[in-house]
Amino acid sequence: MRPRTLLAFALGLVLLVAGCGGSGKTPQRVTAQPSASAAPKPSPSPKPQPSRTTPPPKPKLRPLPKKLPAGLHRRSGSPGVALTFDDGPDPRYTPQILAQLRAAHVTATFCLVGKQAKRYPHLVAQIVREGHQLCNHSWRHDVDLGRRPAAEIRADLERTNRVIHAAAPKAPITWFRQPGGRWTAEELVVARQLGLRPLHWSVDPQDWDHPPAKKIITRVESAAHHGSVVLMHDAGGDRTQTMAACRRLIPDLKRRYGIVRLR
Ligand SMILES: [Zn+2]
Repeated sequence: MRPRTLLAFALGLVLLVAGCGGSGKTPQRVTAQPSASAAPKPSPSPKPQPSRTTPPPKPKLRPLPKKLPAGLHRRSGSPGVALTFDDGPDPRYTPQILAQLRAAHVTATFCLVGKQAKRYPHLVAQIVREGHQLCNHSWRHDVDLGRRPAAEIRADLERTNRVIHAAAPKAPITWFRQPGGRWTAEELVVARQLGLRPLHWSVDPQDWDHPPAKKIITRVESAAHHGSVVLMHDAGGDRTQTMAACRRLIPDLKRRYGIVRLR
């Protein structure tokens, strides 16, 4: 091709391509919606065969109960306050909170996400080595886990326990906490079958929403009393404010109520 011919060809191609999406709009897909007045049913057309890429139909989620099921642990089990840290382990924040707890000579409960435990086994081992309690917090922080079939719940909790035990063999995993606190009675049955006690909370400063440290402190200190279980997060986002709040909260709560192990 001579240069001029080539140029003409290229120009033609550009016009052709531009013409395809020239309006910048996606053409509306026309779907036949049966209207209320449409009386006669259209003759059935052959159903498209499912292609190999079609995923299997998802099981329906069971509805969430209107109120939380009975049997959740929301108290520390003694006059002291219990601290719980969710969604870790996290390489930025878990070591920080461990150092704070160590310095105060107190322990807490860590609600671990399976995927995180698999990624950071050394942190799981350190949590156990430093005497803290363990809580299963599902494999991937599935807020709908309690609404799934019992077999799926069981598989999720067992998988999470397995990675925790791979990192810290024989460490007792006493608790399970449903992500988001969206519990169902069915899930409690599964947890109990696996020897996991359902752990809720009584004080929630909503630190996941990144309030300033001052606000986290006020929220905890105004709600806490003897036997409280405090929910906070050492992972799942920027936890700088939680870490700062704990520098004040840990000594304060220890002095006022004592910080205890969950029972
Ligand atoms: Zn969580």
